Order: sequence, then structure tokens, then C-alpha cells
Amino acid sequence: MDNIQLGPNYFCLRLLCPEIAPAYQPGQFVMLRAWAGYDPLLPRPFAIHQTWQRQDQEQQGIDILYQVVGRGTRLMAGLKPGDQIYLVGPLGKGFIIPEGLQSAFLVGGGMGIAPLLALAHKIIRDSRPSPKLSLLLGGKGKEDLLRVKEFIELKVSVHLATEDGSVGHKGLVTEMLPTIIPRQRPQVIYASGPEAMLKKIAHEASYYEIPCQVSLERLMACGIGACLSCVTKTRLAQPPEGLSPDGVSPTPFQYQRVCLDGPVFEAQEVIWNNGAE
Ligand SMILES: Cc1cc2nc3c(=O)[nH]c(=O)nc-3n(C[C@H](O)[C@H](O)[C@H](O)COP(=O)(O)OP(=O)(O)OC[C@H]3O[C@@H](n4cnc5c(N)ncnc54)[C@H](O)[C@@H]3O)c2cc1C
Repeated sequence: MDNIQLGPNYFCLRLLCPEIAPAYQPGQFVMLRAWAGYDPLLPRPFAIHQTWQRQDQEQQGIDILYQVVGRGTRLMAGLKPGDQIYLVGPLGKGFIIPEGLQSAFLVGGGMGIAPLLALAHKIIRDSRPSPKLSLLLGGKGKEDLLRVKEFIELKVSVHLATEDGSVGHKGLVTEMLPTIIPRQRPQVIYASGPEAMLKKIAHEASYYEIPCQVSLERLMACGIGACLSCVTKTRLAQPPEGLSPDGVSPTPFQYQRVCLDGPVFEAQEVIWNNGAE
């Protein structure tokens, strides 16, 4: 185990866990408790950032890219090689890569970058001929834009945005979409980051009729579908008789568990802010 500091509040936790690495799909996550005892009580959810394998020692495991935001992640930042942690995973449903995918946008906001590097690796590995990938990544400042070099090494075309203008477009990452989407017309958009960003991307994708998958974040207590703390409203694909949307009645919806039915959803299924505008 290793815990590498990448910036003032950013770390990459490298974990030896041979059971999880081979079974995982990009977009899936783990529930992790990196502290002894029960304070904090609940484990925390983290996307699997990437898997790794050391051929010589036949060791394999996963990396978790995380930002220190509260008590749990502060305790994680103090982890040292040899410490043991409680971990369950891989959990949830990851991103779906359509057969023969030729072009895609990966859009990340802040820590939303975490599941996108492994997704890029998988698309490149599984698609022939080589697909055209673009990363659109936004953050507050340039120190919040992680893993850019790794995407460039994969020959992904990278477009950056920062709110303070320290690098790339000055403003939000979503402000680049109306120019870039019509120029490149990706086959699929994959997005991960804050909900306001995902909602805007879903709107743009729908306007240009491009399929879009979003990875939702919710507070989660169990991560396995039991506690219902992470439910979100989604549109019913086949509304029951008499409940079809007519512009007057509320959209027929169901509650789905982000931990079990997601965290990745088709953007058009999601009822943003649970219907509260
Ligand atoms: C499926 C999933 C994957 C995630 N992947 C990553 C990842 O790869 N890297 C990463 O850094 N973080 C990720 N997160 C968010 C991460 O779980 C939280 O940052 C973490 O639980 C905070 O724990 P804490 O004890 O440090 O903070 P707390 O003390 O619990 O909370 C501190 C602050 O963070 C907010 N917060 C806590 N959890 C969430 C959450 N799930 N969504 C939004 N705000 C939250 C709280 O409301 C509070 O304001 C993911 C969350 C989900 C649901």
C-alpha cells in the first residue's frame, strides 16, 4: 500500500487487493474505511481510479484518487504502507462501451476525473480501429486538474477549463460544449463530476441527440442497496397505463439506488435535483 500526495488536498491511494482488480469495470466503486474503530461510523464511497499489476511479483490492486474534504478523507491522508483498511467492491454498475465505439467525449469536473482514466484505457484497448477520444476537464484552478499528462500520453485530445483562468478556458467546463460538440459530434458522452455540471451536460447531449452516461454522487451509507440513503428519481422507461407524460401530469418516476442501479446512469433517465428546480 502507498499513499502518494498529488497536491495540497489530493492523494492517490495504491492498494494491494488482487480480488478486486480483475473483476472491475470503469465507473464502479468501493466502500472504504481507512480507520480503526467506528469514528466515523460509516465507510466512504470512492471510484476505482485504475488497476495496476506488477508482473514480476504477481501483485495486483487498485488506485483511488481522492480529495480531502472531511474527517474520513483526512484520516485516509494519514495512511502509511502496511496499514490495513476495510474495503468492499467492486460495487455498482460502471460505464457501458457500445460495440465499435469510434469517438467519445469524457467530461470531468474536479474529482470527477477519477473514473475517466480507466475508462479511456478500456475504450482504447477494446476498440478497433483506434477511437478518437477527447477529455474536457474543469476545475477551480490548474492545481485541481489531475492526470492531464496521463490522458495526453494516451493521445486523448485534452481541453481544459479553470474558473480562475489559470489554464485553458476561463470559466466552467460546460461552457466549451456548445463549440466543441457540433465540431466533433462524438458518438457518446461520458461525464463524472458535480451534479450541476452533469445536468448541463445532459441538456447539451439531449439537444444534439448524443447518448450520454453520467456517474452520480450521493451520500451513501452501505453501498450495497440495503439502506436506501442514496436513492435518486429516474424516469420510468415504460410508464404504467394512464400515467404517460402529457405535459400536465408530473413525469412518471421511480426511485433507484445510486449504489446498486448506478452510479452510472443514462443521462436521459435522470430527474435532476430529484425534480426540484
Ligand atoms: C460513487 C461515488 C464515488 C466517489 N468517488 C470519489 C473519488 O474517486 N474521489 C473522491 O475524492 N471522492 C469520491 N466520492 C466522494 C467521497 O465519497 C466523499 O468525498 C467522502 O465520502 C467524504 O468523506 P469525509 O468523511 O472526508 O467527509 P464528510 O465529513 O463525510 O463530508 C465532508 C463534506 O463532503 C460532502 N460529501 C460527503 N460525501 C459526499 C458525496 N458522496 N458527494 C458529495 N459530497 C459529499 C459532505 O456533504 C460534507 O460537506 C465519491 C462518491 C460516490 C458516491
